[in-house]
Amino acid sequence: MINTKPSIFDLDFKDVFEFIKNEKEPDYRAEQIWKGLYHNLYSDAESYSNLPRRLINKLSERYSFSNLTPLEQINAKDGQTIKFLFQLSDQKTIETVLMYYNKRCSLCISTQVGCAMGCTFCATGQMGFLRHLSSGEIVEQVIFFARYLSKNRQILTNIVLMGMGEPFHNYRATIEAIDRLNDQSGFNFGARRFTISTVGIIPMIKKFALENRQINLAVSLHAADNDLRSALIPVNRKYPLQELMDVCKFYVSTTKRRISFEWALIDGINDDIKQAELLTQLISGLLCHVNLILLNPTNKSHHKPSDGKKAVAFKNFLIQKGVPCSIRLRRGIEIRAGCGQLAARR
Ligand code: SAH
Ligand code: SF4
Repeated sequence: MINTKPSIFDLDFKDVFEFIKNEKEPDYRAEQIWKGLYHNLYSDAESYSNLPRRLINKLSERYSFSNLTPLEQINAKDGQTIKFLFQLSDQKTIETVLMYYNKRCSLCISTQVGCAMGCTFCATGQMGFLRHLSSGEIVEQVIFFARYLSKNRQILTNIVLMGMGEPFHNYRATIEAIDRLNDQSGFNFGARRFTISTVGIIPMIKKFALENRQINLAVSLHAADNDLRSALIPVNRKYPLQELMDVCKFYVSTTKRRISFEWALIDGINDDIKQAELLTQLISGLLCHVNLILLNPTNKSHHKPSDGKKAVAFKNFLIQKGVPCSIRLRRGIEIRAGCGQLAARR
C-alpha cells in the first residue's frame, strides 16, 4: 500500500514545535513527542501514554510513523552481518547493513535509491539513479535498527553513510538527517561516530569543511592518476584528482581533522606499486589514513579483487613511505552486503 502521509521522521524539532503550536497545545508537548520518537523509539502514535487522546489521534492522522517496510532480512553465515531490504512509500527499495565487530555495532545506511555517479565497479552505480532519499528516510533506517538492537539490549556504536548512493549528491537531506540524529535532546548520536563517504564532489567537500563539523570524512580515491580514475569513476572528469586533492587538503587544514581515503584493490588495474607510489605522492604530508579493501564482486563488472599477497605488498609500500594504512575486513560478501554490492534487487 502506498503511504501518502508525510513521515514524522522528516520533521525537525522546530517543525514538531510548530505542529504543537498549531494544535494550541503547551510547548512541553513538543519535547514529549520528540523524546517518544528518538528516546523511547515509539513506532506509532498509540505508544504515547503521556499525550492526550486528541493529540494522539491528530498525530496518527497527520503523520506516518513508518515509511520503511522491511521486505527481507538476510543474515550472513558469519552471524555478524545482517542486510535488510526496505520498501519505501513509493514502492522503491533500498538496502541497509548492520555489522557486528567485537563490541562495536556499525550500521551502513543508504542516502539515495541507486546512484548517478556510475562507478564501473559498484552495483549501485550499475543500477543508475532513481531518486534521493528524504532526510526522514535516512533517519528511519537508523531508528529501525536502534529498535531492532534494543530488543537484545544492544546499541549502535557507529553509523557509516556508505550504503546506496552518493551522500554529497544529496547533501542537504544527508546533513539534516545527521543533525536530527545528533540532537542531544533526542537520539543523541555523537557526530564523531558518523562517517560520510564521498566519491569526491568537490564543492560539497568545501562546503562541508567550512561547516566545521565533527563528522568523519572518507573520500573514495581508487586511482592516483586521472586517466585510470576517470575510467573507473566517470565523475572524475568533472572533479579531477588535483582539484580533489586540493580540497582534501583544505578540509584537513580547516577542520584539523584526519581524512580517510578508500581504495578498492582491483586485480591488474590499480594494485601495482606504481599506483601505490603515485598515491603516496598525492597525499604526502596530509593528515590521513588509507583504507584498502579487496574489490567485492558485482554482476555487471568483469573486475576481480587483487590477491592477498598483492594487497599486503601495496599496504607495506604505503606504510614504509609513512602513510597510515590498513586492509579493511571484507564482510557479508556472500549475501551481497559488502561495499559497493548494494542494489536492492528482488
Ligand atoms: N557514494 C559513496 C558512498 C557509497 S559507496 C562513495 O562512493 O564513496 C561506499 C564505498 O564502497 C566507497 O568507498 C566505494 O568506492 C566502495 N565500493 C564501491 N563498489 C565497490 C566494490 N565493488 N568493492 C569494494 N568497494 C566498493
Ligand atoms: Fe555511487 Fe559510491 Fe557506487 Fe560510485 S561507488 S556508483 S559514487 S555509490
